[in-house]
Amino acid sequence: MILTARYVIPVATPHIENGAVLVRDDTIVEIGDYEHLRAAHPDEPVRDFGLAALLPGFIDLHTHLEYSSMRGLVDDLPYSRWKLQVMEREKHLSQTDWEDAAMLGALESLRSGITCVADITATGASARAAHASGLRATIYREAATMDRTKVDSVMLQADEDIRSWREIADPSRVQVGIAPHAAYSCHPELFKKIAEYAMDGTPVSIHLAGSKEEYEFVKYGSSMLAVDYRAAVPESPSVWLPTGVSPVRYVLQWGLFKVPNLLAVHVTQVDDSDIEVLASHDVSIAYCPRCNAKLGMGIAPLYKFIQSDLIVGIGTDSPASNNVIDMFDEMRIGLLLQRAILGEEHWLGARRFVKMATLDGARALGIDDRVGSLEPGKQADIVAIDLSHSHQVPTHYPYSTVVHTANQENVLLTMIGGEVAYEQGTWAALDQERIYARAEEMRVKLRS
Ligand SMILES: [Zn+2]
Repeated sequence: MILTARYVIPVATPHIENGAVLVRDDTIVEIGDYEHLRAAHPDEPVRDFGLAALLPGFIDLHTHLEYSSMRGLVDDLPYSRWKLQVMEREKHLSQTDWEDAAMLGALESLRSGITCVADITATGASARAAHASGLRATIYREAATMDRTKVDSVMLQADEDIRSWREIADPSRVQVGIAPHAAYSCHPELFKKIAEYAMDGTPVSIHLAGSKEEYEFVKYGSSMLAVDYRAAVPESPSVWLPTGVSPVRYVLQWGLFKVPNLLAVHVTQVDDSDIEVLASHDVSIAYCPRCNAKLGMGIAPLYKFIQSDLIVGIGTDSPASNNVIDMFDEMRIGLLLQRAILGEEHWLGARRFVKMATLDGARALGIDDRVGSLEPGKQADIVAIDLSHSHQVPTHYPYSTVVHTANQENVLLTMIGGEVAYEQGTWAALDQERIYARAEEMRVKLRS
């Protein structure tokens, strides 16, 4: 099939006006000028999206699909208080609830043109949701304990889950890794064990240097996380001594940065020497601008990451923290925040953000040989974005139009591996009515 639109944005190469992509089975075969492709393949069926853009599918580099039923539940609190509230409300949810919430997240991701998620889960719900919905995914099994005596059993359980989740999902679409939750919730011994466990290339992700409270807890032994969080988690050590170092340097001590495939999430509280540590260990970064702003966590120094050649993609961090899984919003707000604080210096353009939301996300996950750009031989993970509405025309420069005017409502088609997963209000494998009804049931439970 030939897909055509006013703009084709391959990402790795300049955009093509009146471009086209030839897809056969699950693969992109050819890309170029529409007239040329049409003449070369006269018998091929054509899908013309008109005034629209064809892009590689978005890669949501950090999310928790299973938190989708908590959309808007804890909305006006800073990070630590938000975290404690979410932990309290989690107790109301059953395994079935987590699974249906993850389905809601998968449904919205596809609606937003996301074809791949990097998801941290304690329940495995997102592995099932990815499998059911057709999403490509890297699923990280969350591990956490501050109790030294529990580290071995936490690792055993994590390993068991990772093995069983690998059975659920198609390995060509879903890879499973491990996620030590954060510097304030993991014993050093757990970091060491996870480092050993993942030396074989198992993907690892960690929430790192995300908030001022985390920074102050690790370095000075103070902040709400030192008092209220530890009170809420019974296994926490009764004494926490200041370490005198930043979260990045603290985690560095326990060997986690030695693993070959590490994704650090948030990374708002870092100085130049922390960035040097991250760069020298090839750590990739998930930039989550909207969640970070909404919870008062700070603004990641994106231009410094880029200057240091760190690979940076974009994450939404789930509706529990930012309310909407929308990569357009994420690109737009991410760009605006950087320009607002930097002014003319270190100016970042819209094209850079489209690349971060696609190809750089794939590079961060080590799957850019298969996805992330529109290139012959790559998997046909393609989205069509409508650019024909009153808030979009005329379209002088497609990257600007996509970043500054589009939103999830403009997604016409989401294709993964050549299969249509979402098209104009219809999901190929998900039952929208059932999922919305379950979301309503969870709303009642969560507020009880
Ligand atoms: Zn997160």
